[in-house]
Amino acid sequence: MDPLADRCPLCQGDNHCAVASNEAASTCWCMTAEISPTALQAIPDHLRGVRCLCERCASHESKIIER
Ligand SMILES: [Zn+2]
Repeated sequence: MDPLADRCPLCQGDNHCAVASNEAASTCWCMTAEISPTALQAIPDHLRGVRCLCERCASHESKIIER
């Protein structure tokens, strides 16, 4: 597994991903959270669908746009 699987690809913070803690993906917070499309687009192609965003980056579009 990616040693950085528990890191957000945008801010490198802890993403609290269930998969990274060896738990079922269906228990991850992201299954019920609304992920901003802007945040998804900001993820580098090779990390999209590989690493989970953190909750903050997933919902706060403005921070990502500023980058
Ligand atoms: Zn983040």
